[in-house]
Amino acid sequence: MQHSSTLARQGVWHEWYDKVEPFDLSWKNLIWGPGPHLIKFVLSASVNWVRTPDLLQLFGYVNHAKCPLCAEPLCSLHHILANCKTALHGKRYTWRHDSVLGCLENHLRPHVESFNEKLKPIKPALHISKSFHRKGEGKARRATRPPTSMLTGATDWRIQVEYDDALTPFPAEIYSTSQRPDIVIWSVALKRVLIIELTCPAEEGIEAAQIRKEGRYAGLVVDCRDSSWSPSLFTIEIGARGFVCRSLHRCLSALGVTSKTKKALCKTVSLIAAKCSLTIFQSHTSHVWDKNRVRLSADLWQPRPPLHSIRLITNAPTPDGETHGVDLANAGRISEDEEDVQEESEDEKSERGH
Ligand SMILES: [Zn+2]
Repeated sequence: MQHSSTLARQGVWHEWYDKVEPFDLSWKNLIWGPGPHLIKFVLSASVNWVRTPDLLQLFGYVNHAKCPLCAEPLCSLHHILANCKTALHGKRYTWRHDSVLGCLENHLRPHVESFNEKLKPIKPALHISKSFHRKGEGKARRATRPPTSMLTGATDWRIQVEYDDALTPFPAEIYSTSQRPDIVIWSVALKRVLIIELTCPAEEGIEAAQIRKEGRYAGLVVDCRDSSWSPSLFTIEIGARGFVCRSLHRCLSALGVTSKTKKALCKTVSLIAAKCSLTIFQSHTSHVWDKNRVRLSADLWQPRPPLHSIRLITNAPTPDGETHGVDLANAGRISEDEEDVQEESEDEKSERGH
């Protein structure tokens, strides 16, 4: 730890690691999760050890570190993931942002609408005496309190989400403005409005993004208050490498989302952000990019099946006259390794000028 903090390139994660949730590196996620390419990218990207032009120049493989898209002289991972003007105008970052936003909407919309179905009664906490029991009478009931929510007390909650391809004006009944936060949740009955703004910066820029977005909407918060509304502003930062800032937890807690759902949602947005960034990184040498690319959704990929369930028995006998099982998992692993070797040899060719 001490040694890594002194490293100029690999040690940058020390500056942002305490602001984010750790990436899910459980055995379950490593084996059944998003696959080795994404895990490898997240681990390498967190220590800035990805084959970016500036790293290739450092190794002496190329004689310049220019960005292939915008010709910026020093093309680092930070530049590719969050700071390239060509990628920005080509809406690559917008695609990642809206993909994460779509995932948040999929969870938040039903949660908000569930408060409109009926007024949820607030369960009183159990008396402390219920926490004790006589010897031999079994387990005592825990005096737990249901999660409190800012949405409690009204049944007319509305939610609107702002995408790049579906611009939605700020609700006029609250205040007329040209500003369009990503998510607005409001109740006319309570005159309460929750403004949620999402950013997907590189992890080292999380704090700056938070300050920037708070400053941008500070005026709107004052305007809402002057219009006799009760506003709350939440900024959410999801790191480009897939590390989720703790601000998402704070926001979800305020909305009364259960711990289990919070955990699942954080994991999903983490994967979506990392998958999008991997795609952005893989295409950083190409000007071809579909601006109308479909947003990445968690529904678009399925968990990897258990290895023992993908054993295919071939009917055709082998020369020794027996039928054999083909382990597709291992077969896939071999082809992935071959892919890596192929990629490396292609890189070497390009470095030699082929
Ligand atoms: Zn660039």
